[in-house]
Amino acid sequence: MGIDYSAYLGPYFRCENPLVKSTKVVRVCSGGKTCSKFGFGFDARADPFCPSCGSQIIDKEKSCKKKLVDDTWAIIEATDEAIFTAGDSVGEFVPGVDLWVPNRRRGNSFDKRGTNLDTLQDMGEYQIAPRIIDHERHELSKSFAVELALLQKSYGKDRVSVCWGLLLTAG
Ligand SMILES: [Zn+2]
Repeated sequence: MGIDYSAYLGPYFRCENPLVKSTKVVRVCSGGKTCSKFGFGFDARADPFCPSCGSQIIDKEKSCKKKLVDDTWAIIEATDEAIFTAGDSVGEFVPGVDLWVPNRRRGNSFDKRGTNLDTLQDMGEYQIAPRIIDHERHELSKSFAVELALLQKSYGKDRVSVCWGLLLTAG
């Protein structure tokens, strides 16, 4: 296994994904601080009684922090893999932010231009003018309107923006 580096140049959806307060249920001994297993988390399949003090193992709600959107795979599946998060196989790419790139060709005007710059056939001259950037951002919003709506619903409308840039990733 090696690491693949890739460069993506083009429009993408930038979604802020902050940590939010949440709760999770943990299984703990009800015997209190005197038990040697105090603070120990038991497996869901563990015996109903503590192996140390014999008290009952109970469910306890514990506060924790988790990402606002902690299951990006659900979005990938819901969109039939039309969009993907850039570089997330190496952990968090940009802290607190998910970057979604198109996984199929965008509107007709872009059929001739790929977005990954790591293959030989991509050699050539690519001029980048402000009007091209504006046009491609608009084109992405239009051709991926359904996916954009899902991202806005998942992250919140004001956390999603349509950007254009160079994403260097490894995975
Ligand atoms: Zn115990």
